[in-house]
Amino acid sequence: MLVESAPDITPRGARFPGRYIQAKGAIGLLGQEAAGFGKRAVALLDRGIFDLLETDIAAALSGHVEAKLIRHGGECSEHEIGSLVAAARNAQAELIIGAGGGKALDTTKAAARDLGLPVIIVPTIAASDAPCSALAVIYNEDGTVAYDTFLPSNPNLVLVDTALIAKAPARFLAAGIGDALATWYEADSCRQSGASNCMRMPGVSLAFEIARFCRDTIFKYGAAALKECDAGQAGPALERVVEANILLSGIGFESGGVAAAHAIHHGLCELEDVHHHLHGEKVAIGVLAGLKIHGREDEFLKVRDFCRSVRLPTRLADIGIADATSDKLATVARRACRPGEIIHNEPIPVSEAAVLTALKELV
Ligand SMILES: [Zn+2]
Repeated sequence: MLVESAPDITPRGARFPGRYIQAKGAIGLLGQEAAGFGKRAVALLDRGIFDLLETDIAAALSGHVEAKLIRHGGECSEHEIGSLVAAARNAQAELIIGAGGGKALDTTKAAARDLGLPVIIVPTIAASDAPCSALAVIYNEDGTVAYDTFLPSNPNLVLVDTALIAKAPARFLAAGIGDALATWYEADSCRQSGASNCMRMPGVSLAFEIARFCRDTIFKYGAAALKECDAGQAGPALERVVEANILLSGIGFESGGVAAAHAIHHGLCELEDVHHHLHGEKVAIGVLAGLKIHGREDEFLKVRDFCRSVRLPTRLADIGIADATSDKLATVARRACRPGEIIHNEPIPVSEAAVLTALKELV
């Protein structure tokens, strides 16, 4: 067939973790998988799960790699990253393993980058789409965000044990659904506007299909997955939702692009009120506000009902903003719309006034 238009020479791209393995009991595969990357490892375990997982991880690695297990201090700070780098050098490690929640995993990724070593990521909750990404958020010692750091590559392996995730509180899984909910809406906005993804170029078609698949998966299986999680069971719905929260959303956001929902999340984080709420809970509010900005009332109602079915917030009071004064909302809108912010990836111009109006509809 003849294509008459001029060829599109805009580079398009996508990025992926090297390998992804998900199963009930997947921790048992850690040793044989790790052996593919080296003979000596340092494994950083989240302090919250160190006592719970120390024996299982040591047993899984035994006979495959020589491993030193380290308890994470709690923060993903330059100090913690430096300590892990030093420990890995002392142990002459050939690979780094991180297990736990976001901060322990980000510390591991950043240390692996500094050492130039392969990294295995073992998320023990599915509360966000960070595990597969080539991004780490660095904090100051006082817990405030210092900066985001972009890593040259995604993790070599992401190993997800759904039995562990099913035993964690269901609120984490719900928050991960909130983060995954944003993926389609933001990627689709970037597709329409031609905005760049995390590789500073528009995504390939596959990125948008993965984002769409992510949305369809959480809509279909979200509520059932939470019930399985309540029962501590990694059933078929939970398996599908964990894959959506971690793998599909991870590829979808990095390769498809981000927009209003996360910009509004960043704005909400300016308020002290929301600090006890999880990333994905605030992102869900960002998705709802984004649909209001676009005037998509039918889609808004559909997504609001979905959020209720998966225990996600639908009003500002649900994320701690009980007293939504105009001053507070103006602060959120200003941060969300600052020059160069990802909200400008939307296919329509978005003003502070538009964000303010949308937020007022969520009071
Ligand atoms: Zn997110």
